[in-house]
Amino acid sequence: MKCPYCDAENTRVVESRPGEDGTTIRRRRECVAEDCGRRFTTYERLEQRPLMVVKKDMEREEFSREKLYRGLMKACEKRPISAEQVESVCADIERTLRMEFEREVPSSVVGERVMEALKELDGVAYVRFASVYREFRDVETLAQEVLSLLGEKRK
Ligand SMILES: [Zn+2]
Repeated sequence: MKCPYCDAENTRVVESRPGEDGTTIRRRRECVAEDCGRRFTTYERLEQRPLMVVKKDMEREEFSREKLYRGLMKACEKRPISAEQVESVCADIERTLRMEFEREVPSSVVGERVMEALKELDGVAYVRFASVYREFRDVETLAQEVLSLLGEKRK
């Protein structure tokens, strides 16, 4: 690791400490150049293989938990669901997707997982998300979805 102050090639690690969430390591380094000797900090992070989401038109986009989170928060707007709940749903979805799919996952699978999770969490949020995700062309299809949801809840 190069010294950011004097560009010297050699620095040494004086201290290593795991980060708060346990996925990073913080290292204090010291420049070994005699006329410098300054200290700086680096972070080491687990490299995650990008998971590509393949859309219907075969376009690929890197899976983004932030994007998923924003979409879910939108669906859950004004519903009795906390940001923590949404976060944990996102984390679960990402974890299972990464376990089941090595490099690429069809966007339809991501959508289905989100819908399954929302169905458990909140009926209204589910219908909201489903209406956008499935691109309901008419009110009738949306109504059918609502009815089938109510039917499932009544069981
Ligand atoms: Zn230096």
